[in-house]
Amino acid sequence: MTRVKPAVGIHDLTHVYVSGKGAFVALEKVGFTLEAGEFVSLVGPSGCGKTTILSIIAGLIEPTEGHVEVGGQPVSGPSRKVGYMLQHDYLFPWRTILANSVIGLELNGKVTGEQKAEAVRLLAEMGLKDVAGSYPHQLSGGMRQRVALVRTLITSPDILLLDEPFSALDYQTKLTLEQLVSETLRSRRKSAVLVTHDITEAIAMSDRVIVLDRGPGRVRREILVPGPIRSACPMKAREMPGFHALFNEIWGELEEMEARREPS
Ligand code: ADP
Ligand code: MG
Repeated sequence: MTRVKPAVGIHDLTHVYVSGKGAFVALEKVGFTLEAGEFVSLVGPSGCGKTTILSIIAGLIEPTEGHVEVGGQPVSGPSRKVGYMLQHDYLFPWRTILANSVIGLELNGKVTGEQKAEAVRLLAEMGLKDVAGSYPHQLSGGMRQRVALVRTLITSPDILLLDEPFSALDYQTKLTLEQLVSETLRSRRKSAVLVTHDITEAIAMSDRVIVLDRGPGRVRREILVPGPIRSACPMKAREMPGFHALFNEIWGELEEMEARREPS
């Protein structure tokens, strides 16, 4: 298995939002790559363009300049190769959990019995076997996010984009889900880009952490997570030697940006 091309290549993205108030440069020459099977986190101040980057990778918005390649192919619109999971689960209240899970497949026609069986299997893997026939309002926030994960995985994307998927959850649920997502993606050799406000989450889940700056959004630093922390599961990673030093390093970067922003 030789794979020369990175799973995702992000090249010199510049993005300008134009609105009634004028033009706003959200990104300036943002570039990084994501290898097959790699997990990368994006951290940075609010408004530095994290969601914009994910939306460009997903083919939902076209960058003003630069381009993205997924599996060596230029992105020109949404594709099955890329799955997107958001903070809000966007489950349809009138559909059962099983019916919500297969929604991404319906865009390609009628869902087959085999695909439904696969959805049931995935739901079971996520500990949701007993709620397949329930409705979203009957589930907790953590369970709903697990349904969102099933819905994202069912279309077999190569790359998952995760935009703060755990940030609305309580701490315990969040740790459990980090663990589940990490194991699931690792065992399936999926690549992922996670946006998070939580530095510990970024370190614990990733192979690499990319620190973004704002005004306009750009890559400030790329930090490789050391091997032992990388190979540990998110819960154990937090207890590893070196974890805290890495936390302080990233925290320092974010603080410096904050200090620069507010003239004292
Ligand atoms: P982040 O996810 O890092 O918080 P976003 O990518 O959502 O940042 O937004 C980056 C910047 O672009 C922000 O300042 C935001 O206000 C601005 N922005 C986002 N979407 C639009 C839009 N549709 N029109 C104008 N400005 C936008
Ligand atoms: Mg955002």
